[in-house]
Amino acid sequence: MFFGGTGDLAYRKLYPSLFNLYKKGNLRTHFAVLGTSRQTMTDDKFRAAIKKSLADSGNRADSKEASDFISHFYYQAHDVTDTAHYSVLKDAAEKLDKKYKLQGNRIFYLSMAPQFFGTIAQDLKTQGLMSTNKDAFNRLVIEKPFGRDYDSAKQLNDALSKSFEEEQIFRIDHYLGKEMIQNIEALRFGNTLVESLWNNRYIDNIQVTLSEKLGVEERASYYDNSGALRDMVQNHIMQIVSLLAMEQPVAFTDTDIRAEKVKALRSLRVYNVADAATNFVRGQYGAIDNQPDYRHEDNVPHDSTTETFVAGKLLFDNYRWSGTPFYVRTGKMLADKFTRVDVVFKKPLVDIFAFPQSQSTPLAANVLTIFVEPHAGFSLQLNAKTADAGFQTEPIKLDYMVDAAKSAETPEPYERLLHDVLKGDGTNFSSWPEVSYAWKFVDQIRRVWDLQEPQFPNYTPHSMGPAAAEELIQRDHREWIYRL
Ligand code: NAD
Repeated sequence: MFFGGTGDLAYRKLYPSLFNLYKKGNLRTHFAVLGTSRQTMTDDKFRAAIKKSLADSGNRADSKEASDFISHFYYQAHDVTDTAHYSVLKDAAEKLDKKYKLQGNRIFYLSMAPQFFGTIAQDLKTQGLMSTNKDAFNRLVIEKPFGRDYDSAKQLNDALSKSFEEEQIFRIDHYLGKEMIQNIEALRFGNTLVESLWNNRYIDNIQVTLSEKLGVEERASYYDNSGALRDMVQNHIMQIVSLLAMEQPVAFTDTDIRAEKVKALRSLRVYNVADAATNFVRGQYGAIDNQPDYRHEDNVPHDSTTETFVAGKLLFDNYRWSGTPFYVRTGKMLADKFTRVDVVFKKPLVDIFAFPQSQSTPLAANVLTIFVEPHAGFSLQLNAKTADAGFQTEPIKLDYMVDAAKSAETPEPYERLLHDVLKGDGTNFSSWPEVSYAWKFVDQIRRVWDLQEPQFPNYTPHSMGPAAAEELIQRDHREWIYRL
């Protein structure tokens, strides 16, 4: 059942992803999709919209396969704020249950504004929409954002947990559906070469960059209320960092992986006021050519203090990571659109090639880069001898990039995540303890920032952010690996 079934996300991502799962045989005959939103619409009109959504995403929407798939779609108008109205959904769900022999299994996907999540969850239970068949599943899928600070997130979680158990709640973080984010576990726990060095003895620092080329576009009113710290750091960056920092799980199961991520986040140092001010910097983009600065974008107040850029240093107080910082940065209107992780190893303690008459340049650090998007792959920088006479070293790279044909077959994040929900696998979703530790960390930065009026705008579009982001890392005698 899709709440917000006529929304942008549903049409653009969810229905095409579901169709991909259908094409691959992950959905066959025993399924029905009930779309719901406020507007009235017939099933036929809804199906025509689904057909368009499939066509717009590059599918042959007039094929027999597509029309068989679309025949499983139904529509019911419903206002989520009207408790009495849930009975129409209940009737529709029961009819479909019988028709498609669903045995009471239900998935409720809330693809709408988060202010409705609590009410919907409550009414699903009190109005009898949740299946009472003890062998059947009830699963609740919710979109981001999950609160705007720890208190509001807790309030939301308390509301949800009155109706659903933690293992029935699937909090979407679409970065966890990305191929190379899922590959972090394979890379770490599938390779002795990597995991045996994956600690503060051998790693100098880890850098996570989520860079966006565009400005706020049409999301301005939402974004201005949120900012880069809440929109990107609290969820996506904290999830990536916890996968990089966690210990090896006992087994490759959602419960074991989540347990390790939570342990890692628990040892993340929550900063006091002074450290928050030193270890995190913010930015807002200025104007360039005929593009306005952030404050003159449509739907942004001219005195907005919302940050469109964040860079920060994270420190873990545990045996594996003590003394090895994780630097993170994200922002809009930066030089390029990409996501990458750079793992910078310590240099050899002694550079034996740097004897007095040597022509050799000093050894470079080994760097393992995980390219997440737009291209997926790894790169490992090593030092090797040049092919010239004499003896000099130079950095060389071992690269593995997923080729274009393979990339085209890689499922989109939403396809993977919907598949996981169908299987009941919570590995790639954020659990409540993860969300709560991430908010507690981020709230402290926000609290400090709210005490002081920032000097905005402070970075040029198409750069890699404000000068303060360079100073943050240079102060530690380090550099960002990706630089212009
Ligand atoms: P949208 O505004 O396009 O759609 C909202 C849907 O909710 C519509 O179907 C609307 O009819 C319905 N709705 C609104 N009030 C209602 C009510 N009282 N009763 C019943 N239905 C009601 O929003 P969207 O862009 O599809 O986003 C949905 C959710 O997904 C949000 O939480 C958003 O933050 C999240 N999200 C969206 C995107 C995206 O690319 N669009 C990306 C990430 C997360």
